Amino acid sequence: MQIDVGTNRRNDAWLIAITLVVVVLFLVVVKPFTNVDAQQSRIENLVYTTTTPYEPGVDAEWTPLANPVNLGMDNRPHQFRFTLSDLQADSEGMLLEVAYPLIDHLTVRYEEPQTGVTVLELDGGDALPFDEWVIQHPSLLFPVPNGYDALTVYLEVRTSGVLRLPVRLWHKTEFIEHTSMLSHLLGCFYGILLAIGATNFFLFLTTRSAPFLLYTCYVVSLSLTLAALNGQAFAYLWPHWEWFEQRAVAIFANAAIMFAILFSRLLMNVKDYSGWMDRALKIMGALFGLNIFISLILPYTYLIKVFLVMLAVVVTFIFVVGISLTRQGNIIARYYSFAWGILLVSGFSASLDNLGLFSAPVLSNYLLMLGALVETLLLTFIVAISYRIQREQADFSQQSLFEQQKVSAQAQEDLVAIQQQYADELEYKVQERTLELEIALRELSEANQELERLNSIDSLTGIRNRRQFDKRLIAEGRRSRREQTVLSLAMIDIDHFKAINDRHGHAAGDACICHVANLLQSALRRSSDDVCRYGGEEFGIILPNTDSEGARQVIETMRILVAEKPVYVEGEAIPITVSAGVASAIIEREAQELELLKYADDLLYQAKENGRNQVVAESYIGEQS
Ligand code: GH3
Ligand code: MG
Ligand code: MG
Repeated sequence: MQIDVGTNRRNDAWLIAITLVVVVLFLVVVKPFTNVDAQQSRIENLVYTTTTPYEPGVDAEWTPLANPVNLGMDNRPHQFRFTLSDLQADSEGMLLEVAYPLIDHLTVRYEEPQTGVTVLELDGGDALPFDEWVIQHPSLLFPVPNGYDALTVYLEVRTSGVLRLPVRLWHKTEFIEHTSMLSHLLGCFYGILLAIGATNFFLFLTTRSAPFLLYTCYVVSLSLTLAALNGQAFAYLWPHWEWFEQRAVAIFANAAIMFAILFSRLLMNVKDYSGWMDRALKIMGALFGLNIFISLILPYTYLIKVFLVMLAVVVTFIFVVGISLTRQGNIIARYYSFAWGILLVSGFSASLDNLGLFSAPVLSNYLLMLGALVETLLLTFIVAISYRIQREQADFSQQSLFEQQKVSAQAQEDLVAIQQQYADELEYKVQERTLELEIALRELSEANQELERLNSIDSLTGIRNRRQFDKRLIAEGRRSRREQTVLSLAMIDIDHFKAINDRHGHAAGDACICHVANLLQSALRRSSDDVCRYGGEEFGIILPNTDSEGARQVIETMRILVAEKPVYVEGEAIPITVSAGVASAIIEREAQELELLKYADDLLYQAKENGRNQVVAESYIGEQS
């Protein structure tokens, strides 16, 4: 995610503003303490030697040098000598300050210049417990004996690490004024660091976010390093632990750098940008962690050199990482590089000053404090920016998640609507098709019924046809056999029909057939009785459950009916008679009804033989096997 350019510019402006304000304030406040004041001019003829003092007969080789003394890394015993002049003018008493409290052993010896008599000899240095110091103050302070116009001062120094000797002469009042103001300023300085540390620790407690804890550890370690460098730690935190005091700067400085490395890794999110840089930072962090343990064993002298080299490498490397990540678009890295750059400059100048390679305009400890203060404030600001970026990212992803959910809910709704629409359309179409199908089926069934009806009807007479007769014959044959009822069949034939056709024409013949069919139909009494046109001018009659006598009577009635009612064709009456054979039997076996029909036909033949216009009816006994 990208932060807009306006926000970037504003943050840049803030970072520069914080830096400028702190630097200016610091210089304004610290400058008076670094001024070579009026008392400095009374320190004269400053010389030193590495020749062991107090050896009779050995003439020391004295080398002149300038105050404040900085001889860098030199662990040989040194002796310094200078003269204090014009002391009588100040009746209130004077103080001699060596403003470098890390000196291990320091012996001050005042000598009267003319006589060479030792006036006073005092011991100091942090190898002594703090409460054995002559004046219990964070920097090394010694009273100057009263009543002498001038004094020669010998300082015998044995120390490991850097040999610095910023010697100052104070009026007591002047010193009280100076030290009370300095105490307040240092109180403010440590107060700010403490507040930042506490804030970040509480942020860690509530967020459980590791960078806050690492930053807290860094700030605490840094504060302790500076407090140790300035002597406040030995004075107020561990006044009886001389052994620890010898190593405190090394321990806390290494810890501070270790935490700074780990914190930088997390804050700039290095592992997302470069794998090897991330690994390199981890290894460097581990090395500084190892340094902490080594500093418990090895003397400070060896460590301080290694430490300064490693520090230079790491600070430069982190600066390079910051620049590299900035070029890859990491906004936090951009601010980080700036803050780190400040520490780089101040740390380097402090180190160079410490090693005696370069002389800073202010005391190097103050320079380091300035760098640390600016950097700590900037980092606090960066942590705040980082928090805001993270929150904006969280808001942004929350927002896009919400949008996505909205879109998918809408899509879901649309899908459901489309599905519903398709379901409706499908249902409608199915109903439509079903209806069409039902109509078609009904039409088909009606057509079938009509066909069936037409198939079973004789077209000329309107009564049932031969086909229907055959079906009915089979059905009634089975019923007779099943129910053991008598089935009667009659065959009726119009007499001399050929002659009618010949005399009156075929149309008249057809009319005769229709006439007879109607008469026969009208003579039926039972619904189960049936008249069919068997063929030509022949009719078949089925009389179920009717014995021979009954059947003979029905058919006789028909014969009489036909004989009594002639047919009229074109006004001319045509008399008609019919002959009939009637056979009756209980059907006993399969297809016996056909024999019964044949028998009826035979009887019809007999009726014709006997003279026509008569009925011959008999029970069929025939070829019963
Ligand atoms: P019989 O008394 O012996 O029955 O004498 P018949 O003249 O009726 O003799 P037959 O039964 O052999 O003759 C049937 C005649 O009926 C033959 C045919 O010309 C005539 N015929 C058959 N079917 C029809 C028809 O549908 N219409 C008309 N007009 N004549 C038919
Ligand atoms: Mg016939
Ligand atoms: Mg006939």
